[in-house]
Amino acid sequence: MIRYVDPLSCTSLFIEPCFNEIGLSVATGFLLKYCEDTYLITNWHVVSGKDADSLECLDKKNLAIPNNLLVSFHKKGSLGEWVKRRIDLLDDNEDPLWLEHPLGSEVDVVVIKLDETDDIEIYTLDYQLKDKDMVPVTAMPVSVVGYPFGLSAGANWPIWKTGNIASDHGIDFEVNRPAFLIDATTRAGMSGSPVVLRADSYQTSDGNYEMAGGIQTRFLGVYAGRIHGQSEIGRVWRPFVIQETIENRLLFNDESMRFSPSRIAKCPCNRGLRFKECCGKVA
Ligand SMILES: [Zn+2]
Repeated sequence: MIRYVDPLSCTSLFIEPCFNEIGLSVATGFLLKYCEDTYLITNWHVVSGKDADSLECLDKKNLAIPNNLLVSFHKKGSLGEWVKRRIDLLDDNEDPLWLEHPLGSEVDVVVIKLDETDDIEIYTLDYQLKDKDMVPVTAMPVSVVGYPFGLSAGANWPIWKTGNIASDHGIDFEVNRPAFLIDATTRAGMSGSPVVLRADSYQTSDGNYEMAGGIQTRFLGVYAGRIHGQSEIGRVWRPFVIQETIENRLLFNDESMRFSPSRIAKCPCNRGLRFKECCGKVA
């Protein structure tokens, strides 16, 4: 029997942030290849155990901070079976082993370089899907592929939750926060999920409409929980912040919508260097 499984259903992985063996919460992550290396993408608040806005500890009871992630990977050569692997979050000096965005916790996305081993199958999200020419129009439905109930629902496969684009995709809702908003009844376990637009007819950037001969997908970014405890509005961090995090520099192009400062000005990443010696350095 040949089973059809959507490639994106294989990309999202169930994550349990732990202190030693003790599970502290549940979350989602996904895999992506960049320059031959494989990275696990999730939220800053998932690995730090702190709220990315208030920096308060998320574990209100014990104030515990995770020191490893227990990740359920696909078992090599056996679709539908999973193996759990621990990924350390802190080195011997308690310093983070994840890569943070140049603006730190201002951007609630982290990447962790992954060592591939023989026992796990790696299914990566195609990063090029961010450039698919499909215009995300406000109120349009999008999919958040993650684990809203942890694994308590009895299945290891992620759930495709639907949300709607709630802020104009072409602008950042908040200054210096490269994210747009979606309205979705998501749960805490969905933090770190990829968000995608799927349609067989859609608008393209030249203003025309396309009727594709099948469903097309655009990768819209990384979901990061709600902007307010009582609301159902959540942030989706734009895909280019993944590149900025891996390369450890801010990008100044159409996609980032950032304007280059003068070469001798202070770099906007606030690391205290001039632009030409920092993010504006010519490689
Ligand atoms: Zn800089």
